[in-house]
Amino acid sequence: MASQIQGSCLCKAVQFEADAIDGPGSACHCVMCQKSHGGPFGAYIRLVGLRYTKGEHAISAYPSSEYCTRSFCKFCGSTLQFLDRRHPDDVSFAISSLDGEHGATVGLHIYADTCVKWHPITDDLPRFSEDHDSTEN
Ligand SMILES: [Zn+2]
Ligand SMILES: [Zn+2]
Repeated sequence: MASQIQGSCLCKAVQFEADAIDGPGSACHCVMCQKSHGGPFGAYIRLVGLRYTKGEHAISAYPSSEYCTRSFCKFCGSTLQFLDRRHPDDVSFAISSLDGEHGATVGLHIYADTCVKWHPITDDLPRFSEDHDSTEN
């Protein structure tokens, strides 16, 4: 595991760092993640000790459901954070926002029922039909 994690948006207006990655991340196949990431799924990882080093003012956010907000760079549109008001201590970032040799991995698939037909799941990682929070089980 890298001693320090760094990340940024596509245009580098937003930059952040964190102390560590908390466990494997998840690949979320819900339709909202597909739309917001512009890809077949969204991949998120939890970060410990997050701090913004540049451009926190450049972050915009969209309330995508009753409890959840998705943040993105207002200049380049890069997906950044997924925030759930029911779990305010969870700091989930799009794995694609991390830079360098961060060592993040995906450990499970969630909302696998809505996986797109054009990019099927082909690995043997655990699959869940809805959300799965391993810390609460
Ligand atoms: Zn940007
Ligand atoms: Zn999702």
